[in-house]
Amino acid sequence: MNKSVFDLDHQNSSIESKIVASLERVSEAFRVLLWNESKHFSLSPIQVQVLIFLLNHSSQKRKVSYIADEFNMTKATISDTIKTLEQKSLISKQPEQNDTRSFVINLTDKGKNLALQTSLFATQLQVPINKLNDQDKVNLLLSLLDIIRHLNRTGIITIQRMCFSCQYYESDKNGQGHYCKLLQTKLADSELRIDCPEYSHSSPNF
Ligand code: SF4
Repeated sequence: MNKSVFDLDHQNSSIESKIVASLERVSEAFRVLLWNESKHFSLSPIQVQVLIFLLNHSSQKRKVSYIADEFNMTKATISDTIKTLEQKSLISKQPEQNDTRSFVINLTDKGKNLALQTSLFATQLQVPINKLNDQDKVNLLLSLLDIIRHLNRTGIITIQRMCFSCQYYESDKNGQGHYCKLLQTKLADSELRIDCPEYSHSSPNF
């Protein structure tokens, strides 16, 4: 049987387990930072996350079902979140022309201001990353992209808008060089995207 990464005897003799345990600490930091930010503005963490998402994504993605997939939540939960944000005058709903049951969610001016402020909640995490040298940053990015690709392939996280799962992405024979067929340009490792506005999904087994 696999040993738990949280079994300290095992963890302390395994670099792989120490890395997984470290990722858990980082995820805890996100949770704490988001919680603090939410409390400060009398919002819930998911309300803050939705506001930040609305600020940074196109109208095709600003819909209840897309946001539910984005945050791995039910449509009912996201509908409740949207209702509360509307009551707080932070968003408005714009019915779609061809389907009046569906609507695009827009930030109001008040919502945009709040989203801009709260979107800085993860700044502290950037401080140590800024101090890495360029090659270490690239190595860290590539490792994280690989982890995310695996989590997506195994169905643990749903939506991806990263190069590795995009129909426009091509790599050379060694899987080293990267090319974007849409932008018609080579991509350096550091230019690989994690959330690309032009992303288009490729086959499930990318
Ligand atoms: S369209 Fe965006 S996600 Fe797709 S390969 Fe090009 S840069 Fe990457």
